[in-house]
Amino acid sequence: MAELYKSRLAVLERIDSALSAAGRPAGECRLLAVSKTFPAEAVRLCHAAGQRAFGENYVQELDAKSAELSDLTDLEWHFIGPLQSNKTRTVAERAHWVHSLDRLKIAERLSAQRPAALEPLQVCIQVNVSGEASKSGCAPAELPELAAAVAALPRLRLRGLMCIPEADSEPAQLRARFAQLRRCRDQLNRDGLALDTLSMGMSSDLELAILEGATIVRVGTALFGQRAYPA
Ligand SMILES: *Cc1c(COP(=O)(O)O)cnc(C)c1O
Repeated sequence: MAELYKSRLAVLERIDSALSAAGRPAGECRLLAVSKTFPAEAVRLCHAAGQRAFGENYVQELDAKSAELSDLTDLEWHFIGPLQSNKTRTVAERAHWVHSLDRLKIAERLSAQRPAALEPLQVCIQVNVSGEASKSGCAPAELPELAAAVAALPRLRLRGLMCIPEADSEPAQLRARFAQLRRCRDQLNRDGLALDTLSMGMSSDLELAILEGATIVRVGTALFGQRAYPA
């Protein structure tokens, strides 16, 4: 508990200094605690330390942990992993946010399956800023059409964009990718959308992402330590 409390404070301090170095107002970037591969008990401890927003990559983990922690009514679950169409119902029922939307078909299913009693699902479109064929994410050229279609779905609220640049990039390259995502968001806003979210930056590069306008950083390792199996 003491350790998690300290690591969370250290990450929050990194976020604060990066915002200040970027000349941005304090509080303009939220911390998403990426709890994938860690047990529900780790989420409970992190919640006790003050954290409310948690990110999961696997539908099965989201399902199990949100059920086990249903007594914590102010938890906010963000789904950030690849999403297949046969798994959308669980996400539509359990998540508050989805960051990894990259196809209209998935968006339509999520909108149709979002329970009427819940707020609209908050979504970000994942953009493949690196342009690698193997990576998930919408191609930048297809983004305007996808964004317009997603924004029109009744039970989703399109909030912004997300990216995961190549892990082994140099800082200058990473920063260029983050800047590219920001320009995509700005262009969509000029086209008439009202997107307030850039989900970018992780444990090792959150400062660069904040310099380029990140409003949510997704942090796992720096909070919870090394994951026991690769995710
Ligand atoms: C695992 C993961 C993170 C967290 O990465 P760390 O380097 O552990 O901070 C962030 N975003 C996504 C999409 C992830 O899969």
